[in-house]
Amino acid sequence: MTTTIALVGNPNSGKTTLFNQLTGNHQYVGNWPGVTVEKKVGIVRGVEGVHIVDLPGIYSLSPYTKEEVVARKFLSEGDLDVIINIVDATNLERNLFLTEQLMEFGKPVVIALNQMDIAEKRGYLIKDAELAAKLGVPVVKISALKGTGIDECVTATLEAAKGSASTPILYSEKLEEYLSEIESKLPSTTPDALKRYFSVKAFERDHQALSDLGGVDVDDIVAKAEAEFDDDSEGIITNDRYNHITSFIHDIYDRKIEGESTSAKIDKVVTNRILALPIFVVIIGLVYYIAISTVGGVATDWANDGVFGDGWFLDPSPIVGIEGSQAKYDEAAGEYDEAQGCIAAYIEAGTEMEIKGAEELQASLDAEEDFDEATLAKFEAAAEENHLSATFIPEDEESGELLEDEAVTVDADVFEESLEVEEPDPTNFGIWIPGIPVLIENFLNSIGCGDGWVKSLILDGIVAGVGAVLGFVPQILILFFLLAILEGCGYMARVAFILDRIFRRFGLSGKTFIPMLIGTGCGVPAIMASRTIESESARRLTVMTTTFMPCSAKLPIIALFAGAIFGGIGLVAVAAYFVGIASIIVSGIMLKKTKPFHGNETPFVMELPEYRLPRLVDVLRSMWERGWSFIKKAGTIILASCVLIWFLSNFGFEEGVFGMVEDMNNSILATIGNAICVIFAPLGWGDWKATASTVTGFIAKENLVGTFGVLYSGGAGLWANMAAAYTAPAAASLMFFNLLCAPCFAAMGAIRREQGSGKWFWASIGYECLFAYCVALCIYQFGSAFIGEVNALGLAVAVIIVCFVLIMLFRPQPHYANVPETKIVYTKDEPAISGCGDCASCGAAVDCEKPEKKKAEKRFGKGGGCH
Ligand code: GDP
Ligand code: MG
Repeated sequence: MTTTIALVGNPNSGKTTLFNQLTGNHQYVGNWPGVTVEKKVGIVRGVEGVHIVDLPGIYSLSPYTKEEVVARKFLSEGDLDVIINIVDATNLERNLFLTEQLMEFGKPVVIALNQMDIAEKRGYLIKDAELAAKLGVPVVKISALKGTGIDECVTATLEAAKGSASTPILYSEKLEEYLSEIESKLPSTTPDALKRYFSVKAFERDHQALSDLGGVDVDDIVAKAEAEFDDDSEGIITNDRYNHITSFIHDIYDRKIEGESTSAKIDKVVTNRILALPIFVVIIGLVYYIAISTVGGVATDWANDGVFGDGWFLDPSPIVGIEGSQAKYDEAAGEYDEAQGCIAAYIEAGTEMEIKGAEELQASLDAEEDFDEATLAKFEAAAEENHLSATFIPEDEESGELLEDEAVTVDADVFEESLEVEEPDPTNFGIWIPGIPVLIENFLNSIGCGDGWVKSLILDGIVAGVGAVLGFVPQILILFFLLAILEGCGYMARVAFILDRIFRRFGLSGKTFIPMLIGTGCGVPAIMASRTIESESARRLTVMTTTFMPCSAKLPIIALFAGAIFGGIGLVAVAAYFVGIASIIVSGIMLKKTKPFHGNETPFVMELPEYRLPRLVDVLRSMWERGWSFIKKAGTIILASCVLIWFLSNFGFEEGVFGMVEDMNNSILATIGNAICVIFAPLGWGDWKATASTVTGFIAKENLVGTFGVLYSGGAGLWANMAAAYTAPAAASLMFFNLLCAPCFAAMGAIRREQGSGKWFWASIGYECLFAYCVALCIYQFGSAFIGEVNALGLAVAVIIVCFVLIMLFRPQPHYANVPETKIVYTKDEPAISGCGDCASCGAAVDCEKPEKKKAEKRFGKGGGCH
């Protein structure tokens, strides 16, 4: 026989920490809401047959948030034996509000008074025996983090599981009369144990419960009660529960006088009205600077050029910025390249002057064969005689720009010297580890794989594509590591509050920031993170717009265009992030004024956890979990799509025969691109290559770079070819279209799941594409006009779009005028035992849904006690 324990409590009360303690499991412990949105099941260590279910954090059992729905469903379906109610000892009153609801489920309840370590440090005296007596349930003091009291908790729980259900608290006499009247009307099929729960829910006119009951008619009873109590039915219950709690809370709770907690002091600065934003910008800027530019930059270079390139030196000197094997090798390689350039220039000049032997040498050079000694001698003699001289102009490796200043004059002596320069062998410079592509190529050669399609598929398709993506892993891991530290120490929770002040005005929630931030890594977890936003409309809006943020897969796109066309990544990257954020805000403002997104403001309720030193294991775990999902993507969807793109761009019909094509213009990819590219002509890039790249970007955004690499390499090189193919406005339009349009298929899948309906899914994808199209069109048309290439029709359309957007942005919205400003609710500093006093000081006020609010309203009238 198994025993099932349900773990229920407020967000951040420590459920997951206790769950991990009990199961030895490694659930992700998080400091922002919604880390546990679904229930997690584990097996309790050390006792036979005990299962434990970690339910999402909830404040009450109303069906307003996804967390509440999940928790309620589990509890009311009754597949459990006992409930452990985790109560945050530093915030007793609010937590007990949930406890009293849990006691109505007809199951034994055990209270685990958690965070006792903090409570004791702050000098709270909690009389657990008295509390147990008041509520008639066992109470165990624990610290899930420190691991104290855990065994006692398990023992008490298993003991309670054998016993009878907790007895629900009694409400006021009058209310009890109404409740028993309702109870008598419940269908006879209602399980006895759940009768109390259903009576209360029916009284609250809870739709879900009423439909579970198969529609009992209790309207008259409830209406009568409402008239008598002069309150809505939900308020009546809330108030009664509160009265019950306040009636005994002071008997079981005391507090030694103490000063302001450290967290509160830190928060005074960090969440300060004026300082909060600059501090936030500096911290996030620093995180990105470290992750992308400095440490992450070195790591990514290593991964891209080393592990997934030619190879790398086992030599840590670049990390600490001193010259090591790599630098010495680079210098030697540079000399060799210059010598080769001089040789080529000299022979080319010789060919032009029709000097004896020059043509043969040129042929060996082209075929990468060694020179024939006799021909070489002949050529040298003839060259000397003719006083042959040439000029070699090196190219900048990255931009392909000719470096006139560094031109070398090649005469017979220089030529002779150049021939002497040997190609450096990296193994002579240090411990050299060949890159994965090199190893694979060597392996293929060793098993006798010729230069046919198999080799092309493996090297050009799979290794190149997947390698390009995995090359970003170090950068991403560092980013996630730093974000996990910010999260673990409690700063992220503050950020959500800080930004809520701003976002709320745009119809978004402060919690929108979390998806946005995660979205800079990957859109898939970002979209999933939007689950925690209570307001349905803000949640849909967030799902719809989060992928406007440039995710890590879009970084290579930015880097490509910045390098090839705009000459430098700095400003372009900043512009990309800015446009991403601006797109989300503009969309928020515009869409909020349309019918489907009207109204439905919900309060921003979140507890600010104490600042803590993050635990390294938690940080590493969080980093690894997010990083792993990225790596998994590379191994699955990107692998598959690389094979697909390789096939589409290498196969097609040539002279009526299907097969591998010589000329990529005949490939299937070209055919598809040609068919749809007219759509993009108004954006300045109606050619098949750009179109095909955009299409492959839907499979995974980094594909776009790979596809460009395949389609535009050769001749002068990728960057030069692209620069020749696109004007600056066309390139900007192409880049921003790809940054803003519908995300990759994986993210689209996440959007489909989170929007929950096909209609909303297509609306989201359609909106993103339309928005991207309009932005790209405006960029191209205004940009072209700016450089003097005016297209009257296109320009007119762009002007109309801008006017439309401006009208939408500035159209008055009365609904907006009254949006209350969010203030910080610092919940743990002052435990909520002084009733409505908290409300007045919390200030989150007008649309606060916390139980205190109801109580305050009761005493001071609507909106009362709060401002
Ligand atoms: P959940 O939202 O209820 O699942 O809460 P978590 O288990 O994610 O815990 C939230 C935060 O509280 C984490 O930072 C934990 O490390 C911390 N925490 C949990 N239990 C305790 C405890 O007993 N003492 C202290 N000091 N911190 C705790
Ligand atoms: Mg949790």
